Amino acid sequence: MTSNLTLTPCPNFIGGEWRTMTNGAGTPVYNPSTGDVIAECPAGGAAEVDAAVEAAHAAFAEWRETPAVDRARVFFRYRQLVEQNFDHLCATVSREHGKTLAEARGSVYRGLENIEYACGAPSLLFGDTLENLARSVDCETLLQPLGVCVGITPFNFPAMVPLWMFPLAIVCGNTFILKPSEKVPLSAVLLGQLLEQAGCPKGVFNIVHGGRPVVDALLAHPKVRAVSFVGSTPIARYIYETGTRNGKRVQANGGAKNYIVIMPDADVGKTVEALSTAAFGCAGERCMAGSTAITVGQAADRLLPSLVEAAKAIKVGRTDRPSPQPDMGPVITAQHRDRVISLLASGEKEGARIIADGRTARVPDAPRGFYLGATIVDGVHENMTLAREEVFGPVLNVMRMDDLGAAIAQANKSAFGNGAAIFTNSGAVAREFKHRVKAGMIGINVGVPATMAMFPFTGWDDSFFGDLHIQGREAVQFYTQQKVITTRWFGAEVGDVWKT
Ligand code: NAD
Repeated sequence: MTSNLTLTPCPNFIGGEWRTMTNGAGTPVYNPSTGDVIAECPAGGAAEVDAAVEAAHAAFAEWRETPAVDRARVFFRYRQLVEQNFDHLCATVSREHGKTLAEARGSVYRGLENIEYACGAPSLLFGDTLENLARSVDCETLLQPLGVCVGITPFNFPAMVPLWMFPLAIVCGNTFILKPSEKVPLSAVLLGQLLEQAGCPKGVFNIVHGGRPVVDALLAHPKVRAVSFVGSTPIARYIYETGTRNGKRVQANGGAKNYIVIMPDADVGKTVEALSTAAFGCAGERCMAGSTAITVGQAADRLLPSLVEAAKAIKVGRTDRPSPQPDMGPVITAQHRDRVISLLASGEKEGARIIADGRTARVPDAPRGFYLGATIVDGVHENMTLAREEVFGPVLNVMRMDDLGAAIAQANKSAFGNGAAIFTNSGAVAREFKHRVKAGMIGINVGVPATMAMFPFTGWDDSFFGDLHIQGREAVQFYTQQKVITTRWFGAEVGDVWKT
């Protein structure tokens, strides 16, 4: 790996120790804005995983006995520290991922909300009781932690997705090992440093960097009880199948292809604004991106001219300095940019028309950055590769349909089921859509209906493998096991006070 920059350290965090690893097998971490290598992500393996699992397992006995109010206090302090270090964290996210500072701030706020949700642990962990289940018999439930839990995260939200997982897992009394994306490991290191400062005991939170060998060792380790995964569908399926085969509880979020239906009565200005944010925000690198617009009837003619104008006005540029900030940053790697370009070429070959072309985007002060401009492809048909595969770039496909029924039927053909949205002024149409569309998160005049911390992130079909989703009460259930206690005491009855 060659670079003229000082590389940012990227240590593992095991048993409360920051351990630098140099086995020569690390992978480059880029600043996508410039194409420079800014760090080397170490490539851990079975030895690092074993050390981290043993540390987490050893810490579990004491941590599970720590009262929930005290566990929550760690996260009250953590919340404050994340807020105090907010700018540094957002700059780190922007630098290694490429999203704009405004987008990084938005995503870290979403993460903060997950910490705030975790601070409610004492109430979240309430069980149920029923007195006199039978005469003199009472019944109660307890929510108890599982043990060592694991989080494996993707590149596109370097801080937010880890924060979906470890605050809640840990506050429920588990210990945790994070395996961040090797493309964006630096935000995870910063999150770990802040959690250490918040007073999280040694071994309760650990980080092991690397790729498949780390994942496979975690999936095979007998002391790992549960695995939370977010990433692409093929890997989500693999994690779910391997993890469950090895007896672990698994929740695995996969990829997506989200449809936005636009009815002829939709407000043009507001829909264009929402659609361009949904399609091009975070350079299209989000699982809730609105990647296909299904226009119904006259909607295409009313909307497309303004949408094309809006796409062409989006300024692409460097995001790695406080100002000036562009409207849109680069994509994650040169390889990813080239994949998006080749998907666009396949669409053109199959008859689609590119009506806003971001392939020509250039950033003169960063010629080696991984840039693509906002792109709109009209005339997309369901059998095109571009229509079926997740593009994960700043590309909006347009499919034209005659009526709502055809639009819903088209959306429902997707193998994915993360999100779907509709823009309309009709309550009846909106109701029909939310009732019939096959996806887990629905937006009505909302382009990115990603759920906040207190609601589950409810992907369906190939967008999710498992039973209990990430976030909200489902996640509390995921990170705990229930115990039901039935109690009967023998003794003399103390009179019947209700008769007096
Ligand atoms: P990815 O699947 O390539 O990687 C995700 C994680 O899996 C990383 O930590 C990576 O190191 C690991 N991994 C990669 N290949 C592996 C293999 N062969 N065996 C074991 N582990 C492996 O995903 P990505 O490119 O980092 O992230 C983008 C994807 O994540 C998109 O598909 C996006 O839709 C999805 N995503 C989904 C959600 C959701 O909630 N549904 C949220 C964010 C991102």
